[in-house]
Amino acid sequence: MEQINTTCKNCGATVSGKYCSECGQSSKVGRITFRFLMNSIVSSVLEIERGFLYTLKELLVRPAQSIKGYVAGKRVKFYKPFAYVVIMSTITSFLVYLIDLNVHARFGYNYVEIDENTFEYYLALTSIFFTKYQSLFYFCMIPIISICSWLFFVKRFNYWENIVLNTYITAQFNLLIIIAQLTRLFMDGTVSYTPYLIIYFTYIGFVYSRFFTKPDEKSLLTVIKMVILIILIVLIYTTGLSFAGIMSPWW
Ligand SMILES: [Zn+2]
Repeated sequence: MEQINTTCKNCGATVSGKYCSECGQSSKVGRITFRFLMNSIVSSVLEIERGFLYTLKELLVRPAQSIKGYVAGKRVKFYKPFAYVVIMSTITSFLVYLIDLNVHARFGYNYVEIDENTFEYYLALTSIFFTKYQSLFYFCMIPIISICSWLFFVKRFNYWENIVLNTYITAQFNLLIIIAQLTRLFMDGTVSYTPYLIIYFTYIGFVYSRFFTKPDEKSLLTVIKMVILIILIVLIYTTGLSFAGIMSPWW
């Protein structure tokens, strides 16, 4: 039985609403029953799922506004950035693992036919390795990319707010990794990441331009700053990707 208490069962404060204003506990707290346990399991799972799906959707439909809102304080409905990126990366890595197994089963382990002891062979090998840990790579880039975006618009947001921004963007990139990996199943087991990287950098550019600038702001300096920032970030990523072996060195 649920009952409404006038004193908080958790901290003893007087309650006049759905929640205690001192500690936040609900005023409807009764005995623990089987039904209560079942309800709490179901509702906590649904809550996690709702927050997760809501964040996923918002970051697709209105990424800049929702991240800006989160930074400004509209946070209740959103999945916390770090938890969100960890879950997205974990799901992605697991799916990539499954797709990899499938590709190997269908095309064998030597589906990349390149002569051994050549530079191309080395590139192909590192690329296969990288494919597995791609999501992790982007995750590790978050602090570096955040230094860039923070330095370019230093007065608008602090470094940690830039971390939040780039964490959400990076988490969302996992969707593209999944799509890219799925295409491997319909191709010969290989994948070209170029189109996905172009989509990714367009997404970054779009989100940044709306995140960092005010709607009425169209000064030439801001536009130039934005363009340099995007070019810089593309360079950092491609350098990282070249070292990781997924692309031939661009330099
Ligand atoms: Zn209380």
